[in-house]
Amino acid sequence: MVENQVEARGVHDPRVLSAMLAVPRHLFVNEALMDQAYSDHPLPIGDQQTISQPYIVALMTEALELEKDDRVLEIGTGSGYQAAILAQAAFRVYTIERNRRLYSTARNLFDKLGYYNIVTRYGDGTKGWKEESPFNAIIVTAGAPAIPDTLVDQLDIGGRLVIPVGSLFSQELIRIEKTENGINEINLGGCRFVKLIGQHGWDHN
Ligand code: SAM
Repeated sequence: MVENQVEARGVHDPRVLSAMLAVPRHLFVNEALMDQAYSDHPLPIGDQQTISQPYIVALMTEALELEKDDRVLEIGTGSGYQAAILAQAAFRVYTIERNRRLYSTARNLFDKLGYYNIVTRYGDGTKGWKEESPFNAIIVTAGAPAIPDTLVDQLDIGGRLVIPVGSLFSQELIRIEKTENGINEINLGGCRFVKLIGQHGWDHN
C-alpha cells in the first residue's frame, strides 16, 4: 500500500510514510471488509460514512507538515484511522465526531491499541475545540461548503489547515497557512468526501 499507492503518487514525507507503515489499517474496518483494508479506495464504515482512501490520508497528512511536538485537531474521527496516523506523527491529537456509534467505536479502539495521545470528543466539530486551541494543525475529513472561520481562529500563527471545500458532490482540497499577515491558501486538487454537518457546515438534511 505505502509503496504502490502513496510513494508512487509522490508522497515522500518520512514521518507520513513511517506512520502509514506502523498503523494496522485492517483493524479500523469491519471484519467483513478486512481483506480490502489495504486496497486503493475508501471503504464503508456504516451510517453512510467512509474510511478515506489510503492515498488521500497520506496526502492530507503530508500537507499538514507535522512536527513531533505539534498538537493537531481532527474534525470527523470516523473509523479513527486518520487520527491514529496523526498520533504517530505528532505530539497529541484532538479528534471530534458527531456520530455517537463511530465516536464510541473509535474511542474503544484507541484504548485497545494504546493510542494514549488521542483525545476524543463527541459533538459538532465545526465549532472546533476552543479550550484546547490554538492548534499547530487542523484537518477536516468531511466536505465543507466553506472554510469555517471558527477553525481558522483556532489555528496558531504558522499553523496549517487542510479541508475539502465545495459542493455536496465534489470538492477541492484546500490547504491554508496562517501567518502574521493573513492567510496563504493553496489548492491541492479535486476530491470527494461525505458532508460536514454542523453549525458551520451543511444542514443535516
Ligand atoms: N477520518 C475518518 C477516518 O479516518 O476514518 C474518515 C472520516 S469520514 C470521511 C467523515 C466523518 O466526519 C464521519 O464520521 C462523519 O460522521 C463526521 N462528521 C461530519 N460532520 C461532522 C461534524 N460537524 N463534527 C464531527 N464529525 C463530523
